[in-house]
Amino acid sequence: MTPTRSGSIHLFKFRGIAVYVHWSWFFVAFYSILTRVNHYTSPLWSALEYLALFFIVLLHEFGHALACRQVGGQADQIILWPLGGVAYVDPPDRPGAVLWSIAAGPLVNVVLLPVTWFLYAWLPAIGGAQLNPNLTSFTYALFMINLGLLLFNLLPIYPLDGGQILRSLLWYFLGPSRSLLAVAAIGFIGGLGLLGFAGWIRSPWIGLMALFLLVTCWRSFRDARLFRQMELLPRRPEWQCSACQRAPLEGQYWLCHTCLHVCDVFAGQGVCPRCNSFLSLVTCPECREARSLLLWRSHRPKVKVVSPVIDG
Ligand SMILES: [Zn+2]
Ligand SMILES: [Zn+2]
Ligand SMILES: [Zn+2]
Repeated sequence: MTPTRSGSIHLFKFRGIAVYVHWSWFFVAFYSILTRVNHYTSPLWSALEYLALFFIVLLHEFGHALACRQVGGQADQIILWPLGGVAYVDPPDRPGAVLWSIAAGPLVNVVLLPVTWFLYAWLPAIGGAQLNPNLTSFTYALFMINLGLLLFNLLPIYPLDGGQILRSLLWYFLGPSRSLLAVAAIGFIGGLGLLGFAGWIRSPWIGLMALFLLVTCWRSFRDARLFRQMELLPRRPEWQCSACQRAPLEGQYWLCHTCLHVCDVFAGQGVCPRCNSFLSLVTCPECREARSLLLWRSHRPKVKVVSPVIDG
């Protein structure tokens, strides 16, 4: 559903984050600039306004990407497409880390709110409007674009930022799978409402966005149900993944790379029962983090080693 790097043009790289623009962006840019030309005396200002929109979107996405890096997650690309920007972020599987990675995007717009208001109130007033009459419309559009992006992104419809913030807050009380189930259901209702609203104001963009959100909510609901079933499977509480703190599943889920036998790595203390080789890395099925078995925390009572005291 989201754009991929194929069909996208590489623009630049900043702090290790590569920025791409999808080919479909150019067609929509052309169409959008044409529909806004009557607001200005020159189509150049309309083009500038569209570029400003994507510059604000880009700052917002960088907010997500840099915050995700800050909490130890991975984020290395941003793709701009007609429905906005997509920052490919993979924060650690903790509600706090997810919350900060998501909230940092809208926070950028909150910071831009007084900045864009100041430009609108100040630039035309100091004589900019006499210099160029387009300046008032442009700075006003800048303020409204930023405000619009902030409000739209905060709608509690998954996977919009508002929906993801709601999910990470619910995560504290409901856990990872039930919080996703809840926001996918809420998002589905919200998506239907948005689709109705798009029909009412006859906005093809909001309609397209609503369809995108509905499909994503539907898929997330299905994933969350599978995820929930997995959570209810029997586990080994005496072990714990050092990355996500979950206890591993009890059963044969791990592949031995030497003999390709699927075994229960924890039952054999890391040794494959068929070929007797030691599995150097054990992947956590939930957070996909691969670590040595020695790094999996074990809660079994440790044998106290007492140094013998030699009586002289
Ligand atoms: Zn965002
Ligand atoms: Zn894990
Ligand atoms: Zn083996």
